[in-house]
Amino acid sequence: MDFRLPEELVAFKDSLRRFIEKEVLPHEARVQRDGLDRGLARDLSEKTRAAGWWFLDLPESAGGQGLSLLGMSVFWEEVSRTVAIPARDTDIFGPVVGPIVGGLQGVQAERYLQPVMRGEKRVCFAQTEPDAGADPAGMRTRAVRKDGYYLLNGRKRFITAADRADFATVFAVTDPVEGMERPVSCLLVDMTMPGVRIARLQETMMGERPCEIEFENVEVPAENLVGVEGGGFRLAQKWINHGRIRHGARACGVAERCIELAASYAKQRKTFGAPLADRQAVQWMLADSYTDVHATRLMVQNAAWRADQGEDVRAESYMVKLFGDEMGFRAADRCMQIHGGIGLTLDLPIERFWRDQRSFLITEGPSEVMRMAIARHVLRQYG
Ligand SMILES: Cc1cc2nc3c(=O)[nH]c(=O)nc-3n(C[C@H](O)[C@H](O)[C@H](O)COP(=O)(O)OP(=O)(O)OC[C@H]3O[C@@H](n4cnc5c(N)ncnc54)[C@H](O)[C@@H]3O)c2cc1C
Repeated sequence: MDFRLPEELVAFKDSLRRFIEKEVLPHEARVQRDGLDRGLARDLSEKTRAAGWWFLDLPESAGGQGLSLLGMSVFWEEVSRTVAIPARDTDIFGPVVGPIVGGLQGVQAERYLQPVMRGEKRVCFAQTEPDAGADPAGMRTRAVRKDGYYLLNGRKRFITAADRADFATVFAVTDPVEGMERPVSCLLVDMTMPGVRIARLQETMMGERPCEIEFENVEVPAENLVGVEGGGFRLAQKWINHGRIRHGARACGVAERCIELAASYAKQRKTFGAPLADRQAVQWMLADSYTDVHATRLMVQNAAWRADQGEDVRAESYMVKLFGDEMGFRAADRCMQIHGGIGLTLDLPIERFWRDQRSFLITEGPSEVMRMAIARHVLRQYG
């Protein structure tokens, strides 16, 4: 068994590390305070394009680079070491193509995928509803098939970047098909279609403002159905597994940076006549975070590598998201504790890491739902 990363990924990791340190970290404090302005985002994205880092995970058949999931886990870990790169919705590494749009074919690809890749259109992913978050099966948004179009009615909540999107991939219940009472289908919905309205921007503790979208008698052309009726959840499945592995990889980047900050501060800060680094209570926090990162990285790389070999990694991806997100939050929390009051200020990125990591215990699948899915797997397998 060889646990080392392939040479090309080691080189990729080193280049990304240098890029983040040289081009991104100098802006970190400003971005933490004021957000990422368009000018800086454009400047950085020109540099990442020149470095050949756009559309890394998009298949080559769709014009991307087809990087392996193991390669993407290296990428996600490195770019998560700074709060200057937003935890959600960043186009610094090329326009966000999204889970569904990358797989579009034919006319749909011409009308939606290609404009996104050229940076002419933006997409958002609209699944969550006021009464259907962790349990999307409770979805109420309805798309009724008429002559040549679907009549769409309903409401979506917490949709990232919907206010800047040109179209949305909207999940809605369609008419019953054989074997499915409430099939969920995916539609491409232009934000300019009559009846689409951004009802609210929700302020959050992370500074992000996801949107509530209202759909009232929207006539969506039948050709905007993605895949087949009832195939909505299946479309997103592969991406969701990958997304969970991304959470684990991200947590490794966050936690490693937090360990660096905490170790450096513990060496220089003295209390009661000795550096914090001499105290066992502080050493144990560092040791626990370090051990946590090691365990998570092994889990992430194992799941990513196995997915690349074509294995079913659903159970592993649940464990990676659960363990990774909880460990990233623990590491940020310990780092904050070691820093004392200064850890709560905007002079350091810790508070932002802490808020972002706290949010990941809820979004894209709360920890309890991950445990529920893992438990189902355990009970199927044993006893
Ligand atoms: C900043 C942000 C951005 C987002 N972006 C998007 C987006 O772009 N597109 C999109 O579709 N959605 C998005 N979401 C929605 C997000 O994925 C949901 O908030 C998440 O899935 C949880 O759903 P909910 O908030 O409705 O919580 P609920 O489903 O109401 O759950 C509430 C809590 O109940 C507990 N719980 C739930 N089920 C169980 C169970 N079976 N057992 C035990 N406990 C349980 C958990 O602790 C959970 O946190 C975003 C949310 C936020 C905050």
